[in-house]
Amino acid sequence: MKKISIVIPSFNEEDNIVSVYESLQNHLGHLPYEIEALYIDDGSSDRTLTKMRELAGMHENVSYVSFTRNFGKEAALIAGLHHADGDAVVIIDADLQHPSEVILELIEGYEEGYDQVIAKRNREGDSKFRSGMATMYYKFINRMVDVKLEDGVGDFRLLSRRALDALLSLSEANRFSKGLFSWIGFPAKTVYYENVQRQEGETKWSFSSLLNYGVDGMISFNNRPLRVCLYTGLVVMLLALVYIGITFVQIVRMGIEVPGYFTTISAILFLGGVQLLSLGVLGEYIGRIYYETKRRPHYLVQESNTKRRDA
Ligand code: UDP
Ligand code: MG
Repeated sequence: MKKISIVIPSFNEEDNIVSVYESLQNHLGHLPYEIEALYIDDGSSDRTLTKMRELAGMHENVSYVSFTRNFGKEAALIAGLHHADGDAVVIIDADLQHPSEVILELIEGYEEGYDQVIAKRNREGDSKFRSGMATMYYKFINRMVDVKLEDGVGDFRLLSRRALDALLSLSEANRFSKGLFSWIGFPAKTVYYENVQRQEGETKWSFSSLLNYGVDGMISFNNRPLRVCLYTGLVVMLLALVYIGITFVQIVRMGIEVPGYFTTISAILFLGGVQLLSLGVLGEYIGRIYYETKRRPHYLVQESNTKRRDA
């Protein structure tokens, strides 16, 4: 019998742990597959880990891995992929926003031979602001990066063993999963589902964490942002040269007129802005090199009932 591991990153999800398992059992329990629920406790401060232990004590097909602290969802994801030993892996959120009935369709796609089956949601019920920002962001970012990123597509997907191993072979410390999923390629299929609101607890995404995530996406995949700085700098420099030339000719022909307070200040401010922007972008890349060279593990495990323990 083939085994499918369901990876569930969970951070402070005490009220959802059991309901996720029940929902999986209800929808997938009858299938001719061995289904494993693999919970990752991302350093929760509530009773999430206790719930996982209890559940694992009651059911054989429940595994969990618990981190020493909160390492972030990306880390929880990789831990899940490391520890999953199924023939295919499905990634879902703990908050029941990824309906179990959609997993049936993901598995169908897997049986048709696809290595990635992606679940795509609409943005029904999201705030206008958030969905508007998202639309703009994806338009922009798809010009900037080499891989294709799609709105409404997240981590909710199925990966075959092949695709999973490919993903795990990428060793970078800064992970932007959305891009990596797309980067590995393989035959992929998309299934569609209706957006669902979170059942219990609160979203862990603040505006600033979304913003940071957005910047990560832009910087992770190539050096086009560096190019943008370079060209902006070049254009500004040429404009400045033209301006200096014109002013010089005027001074030679007519002498110094009004003291150029306005022009001086605007040139300083503008150039200062361009410089800061460029420095910021440079800094981002250097920072990334710094993190990569440290070669730290993505996460540390403090407790687990699975066999694999490597980070
Ligand atoms: N999550 C996590 N670590 C974190 C933040 C979130 O493992 O540091 C998990 C969280 O428990 C949930 C999933 O990632 O299962 C998605 O988080 P959330 O629902 O807050 O995001 P949203 O659905 O609002 O995008
Ligand atoms: Mg959610």
